Amino acid sequence: MTRITAARPEHFGAWVRIDDGTLVAVDRALATRLSLDGGPWWTDAPPRPLPLEVHVAVTSRCPADCAGCYQSATRDGEHVSLDALTSTLDALSAMGVFTVAFGGGEPMLRDDLPALAATARARNLVPVVTTSGLGLTREKALSLRDFAQVNVSHDGVAGGYEAVRGFDGEALADRTVRTLVEAGVPVGINHVLTRQNLAHLAAMLDHARALGAVEVQLLRYKPAGRAASLDYLARRLTEAQVDGLGDTLRALAQRHEGALSIRVDCAMVPLLSNTITDPAALARFGVFGCEAGRNLGAVRRDGTLAGCSFDVRHDAVESPLRGASIAAQWEASPELQRFRDAVAAPSEPCAQCSLRSMCRGGCRIVSAHLAGDFGPDPECPRVRAFRATKTDP
Ligand code: SF4
Ligand code: SF4
Repeated sequence: MTRITAARPEHFGAWVRIDDGTLVAVDRALATRLSLDGGPWWTDAPPRPLPLEVHVAVTSRCPADCAGCYQSATRDGEHVSLDALTSTLDALSAMGVFTVAFGGGEPMLRDDLPALAATARARNLVPVVTTSGLGLTREKALSLRDFAQVNVSHDGVAGGYEAVRGFDGEALADRTVRTLVEAGVPVGINHVLTRQNLAHLAAMLDHARALGAVEVQLLRYKPAGRAASLDYLARRLTEAQVDGLGDTLRALAQRHEGALSIRVDCAMVPLLSNTITDPAALARFGVFGCEAGRNLGAVRRDGTLAGCSFDVRHDAVESPLRGASIAAQWEASPELQRFRDAVAAPSEPCAQCSLRSMCRGGCRIVSAHLAGDFGPDPECPRVRAFRATKTDP
C-alpha cells in the first residue's frame, strides 16, 4: 500500500512524497483535498523555492586516492562532527527538504553512519549514501538498513574501473554490492562514463544486474577537484562517443527494461541531445538536467552551501555569508544566484532549444572549467553545431 510520507506547498500546488522515493507534483486543488494549506506559497509573490534534495559532505577522508576524486579526498582527511551534521539535518528538515545524500570522501569510514541515517529519518528526511565500499563489513552492512538506498561507485569491468580511478577496485565494488544485497539494503551503482570505459558499458550493466543492483546511475565525468586538470580532456568522452551515446543508452534501456533501472545524472542530458530529441523520452531515464541552486543544493564540509556537490570551489560563498544559517545562504548566496540566473536567462542556442525545459543549459561545472562562465555547455552536440555555424566562413 502506498503512503504519503511528506508534503510541501509550492507555488503550483505541492510536492508530495510517496513512500521512500517517489516525489509527485500535485496542483492546488488536489493539495487542498489532501488538507495542505499553501499559505504564502499560493500568493502572487511566493517565497523562493526550496531544495528537494541536498547532498551533504560528511568527511574528506578516503584511502583510495582516486585520480579523478571531485572532492580531492585524502588519507588524512577529517570527518565533519556529528553535532555539525545534526544541525545541518535540523536546518534541512525545517526547509522541507525531502532527500539527503551523504557523500565524502568515504562515508563508510565513519562509525556513526547508521546513527546519521537514523538522525535523518527522525527528521523525516530520506537518507541515501554513496560509497566505494572501503570500510564496509558484513556487520556494518546490516546496520545500514535505515538508508533508502546505498549507491556503490563501480566504474567498470574488464579493467574499466582501474582506467577511471587509477586503482583496481572492481573486486571491492563487486564484494560491496553483494554484501549489501545480502544484508537486505537496496543497492544502486554509480558508474562514471569516460572514454576509457564506455566500450564496456553493456557488459557493466549485465554485471550490475547479476550482482543484484536495483539501479545503475550513469554519471558524466566532471572537471571538479582532482579531475579539474588537463587530464580531464583525456578522460572525458570523445565527440564521436557523445554523438552515439543516445542510441547506445536507448538500446541498453530496452534490453534491461523491467529488470534494472538505468538512469543518467543531471549533467548527462546535453550529451544525449542529438539523438534523443523529445523531452518525454529523456524522462524515461529519470532525467532532471541542471537543478543546481534550485531543486538541488549541497552542504560542503565547512558548512557553506553550494549549488551542487561538484561546486567545490572554496571561495564560492562570499565571506559575509560564512557561518550564516543554511536557510540564509539559500536565500542570499550570490553564487547560488548565478546558477539560477543561468537557467532563467540562457543564451543561444539554449534559449531556442527544444530540450531547454529538461536540460537547462547543461552542466555549469563543465562550462566554467572549459569556458570560464556559466554559458551553454561546450560539450553539447547542439552547442558544438551552433558554434560551428558561427565560425565557418
Ligand atoms: S543546446 Fe543547451 S539546452 Fe539544448 S541540449 Fe544543449 S546545452 Fe541543453
Ligand atoms: S552544475 Fe548542474 S548539471 Fe552540473 S553537476 Fe551540478 S547540478 Fe549537475
